[in-house]
Amino acid sequence: MSKETKSFQAETKQLLELMIHSIYTHKDVFLRELISNSSDAIDKIKFKSLTDVSILNGDDDFHIYLKPDKNVNTLSIIDNGIGLTYDELVENLGTIAKSGSKAFVQQLNEMNETSKSDIDIIGQFGVGFYSAFMVANRVTVITKSAYSDKAYKWESTGDGTYTIEETNRDSRGTTIILELRENDADNETTFDEYTEEYKLRELIGKYSDYVRYPIKLDIEREEIPKDENGKPIDGATAETVITTETLNSMVPLWKKDKNSITDEEYNNFYKSKFHDWIDPLDKIHFKVEGNIEYTALLYIPSKAPFNFYSKDFTKNIQLYTKNIFIMDNCDELIPDHFRFVKGLVDSSDFSLNISREILQQNKQLRVISKNLEKKIISTLKEFQQNNLDKYAEFWKEFGEAIKGGIYNDFTSQNKEKLEDLLIFSTSDSDKFSTLENYLSRMKEGQEFIYYVAGENKEALEKLPQMELVKDKGFEVIFLLDRIDEFMIDRMNEYKDKKFKSITKGDLDFVDNEKKEEIKGIETENKDLLDRIKKSLDNKVSGVKISSRLKTSPVCIVTDENGLSLEMEKIMSELPNMSNAKANKILEINPSHSIFTKLKSIYNEDQNSPLLDDFSYILYNQALLIEGFKIEDPVLFSEKLTKIMVG
Ligand code: ADP
Repeated sequence: MSKETKSFQAETKQLLELMIHSIYTHKDVFLRELISNSSDAIDKIKFKSLTDVSILNGDDDFHIYLKPDKNVNTLSIIDNGIGLTYDELVENLGTIAKSGSKAFVQQLNEMNETSKSDIDIIGQFGVGFYSAFMVANRVTVITKSAYSDKAYKWESTGDGTYTIEETNRDSRGTTIILELRENDADNETTFDEYTEEYKLRELIGKYSDYVRYPIKLDIEREEIPKDENGKPIDGATAETVITTETLNSMVPLWKKDKNSITDEEYNNFYKSKFHDWIDPLDKIHFKVEGNIEYTALLYIPSKAPFNFYSKDFTKNIQLYTKNIFIMDNCDELIPDHFRFVKGLVDSSDFSLNISREILQQNKQLRVISKNLEKKIISTLKEFQQNNLDKYAEFWKEFGEAIKGGIYNDFTSQNKEKLEDLLIFSTSDSDKFSTLENYLSRMKEGQEFIYYVAGENKEALEKLPQMELVKDKGFEVIFLLDRIDEFMIDRMNEYKDKKFKSITKGDLDFVDNEKKEEIKGIETENKDLLDRIKKSLDNKVSGVKISSRLKTSPVCIVTDENGLSLEMEKIMSELPNMSNAKANKILEINPSHSIFTKLKSIYNEDQNSPLLDDFSYILYNQALLIEGFKIEDPVLFSEKLTKIMVG
């Protein structure tokens, strides 16, 4: 047979042109593509040999060899897979076999020139074998099919034509020789690195580590010859020693049987793959079969990375198909509130070259992502039930992310299940409590889930508003994270029980008789209360007689439906939010002697400046107790000193 020159099919020509002129940000992937083809070709022969072992001709040492040659700037990829017959060469390398690529080329034809040059071609669709032209001027394929005695050489420079001629190859398999392109003049885009050991190691480690067949490379080293004791011989000149190394680990851990994997193996895999120093807290490893098939291996880290709560943080979920890496940071697989989870999903349902854009609309992906969320929820719930102390450690690291999910995604189907994951400190125990447990401890006749927000438990326990609640024997949930009260506000209720702040609105603890009594005191002292309000100018919207205080003189409460003091404090620190103000009400304890004092000053002289000083001090005192700063400390201490001096 003499050498033939053939034209590529029209669509293939277009694809090649694009490949040659494409931007090079993804050019590394050519190796993954070619190795994946080799691995598929070995899969095929292995499969055939199951029913006809003679097809192997004794060669069952399956492998993929990388042969770089620095002298001529080439890289060869050699496999002993099934090989290609003449017809297959023409059919498979002369046309685009894959429907996805076809569709893409068609789509491309409909685009105008500018958007064409903008698109990130490799990220968009299947590149396969043709990606070789991103890095090579000339691609030569030497192949011998397991079903033919003849070997063929296919060659192209990507210019629209290719040649085929008969050649020799000792045994079955395919060799792909890439004549690497010259580096750019400014060395910004380099190609000669593909002949370097370090680069090949890096790419195999990153993209093809779990290919089932060994990917081998001959490593050359200069070594001084050694004597029989293994000691270098003095004065001897170095010799070139060649050893063959396998660059990939070949074992997709996630595909192994769960029971055969030790904790240590799981942990080592996690640490090396996701670059963490600390063992993970827990792992989730499962396989789904049926309509959609996939294996997932997920890890819950022990510690939040330093940038976890910043914008720089990216999710770390990788997508694989049939053990081959497709994509890092596959965001769509995990909802934002579980963004701390690291891991991978391997599904044979995705094509090797699926792009992010296409993935985002992929139905299977959505189904998988829903399942992953469910699994994570149930794992965390189980963890919470089995070891609340350890769960509390986890919660300290990542609880805020989950709370963010409850706050942001209040329409989520999993809303209730996410709420079950919440834990809080409470007034009744040193330990954390779930809302479910809180409900189980509620007193007879207790209508609400009581809460109070602030910076720490100790300060909250001493709040004047706690007094009567404690007396009643009601447990109070402490909201210590900044997001807590906003989230609770949005939740409004949990399992049909409404939340109620002990520092907002009316607590309604007292019986009718007491209510009447308070009302009476309020009417009786209306003028005094108005006088105090006026003195405090517009700092408070009302001054009231309190039914919630026992021993403390005053407290500040806010409107039932508005911002709480704690919310005001948090919002004042946010840009553009500093004007957000809680509607404050000063409550005075009618049984406290300070009230008697106020009354007597008022009765003596309604305009007494002492009344202004008292009001000012009492108001600021109440703020101090709530953890606020005094607006004008100098004025405060002046007034205080004045009163002390008398
Ligand atoms: P894909 O692998 O996605 O089908 P490619 O463009 O990468 O698309 O390859 C086209 C076809 O060429 C493959 O389907 C396969 O039949 C054949 N092929 C490519 N590389 C090899 C190889 N190393 N050994 C045998 N056949 C190969």
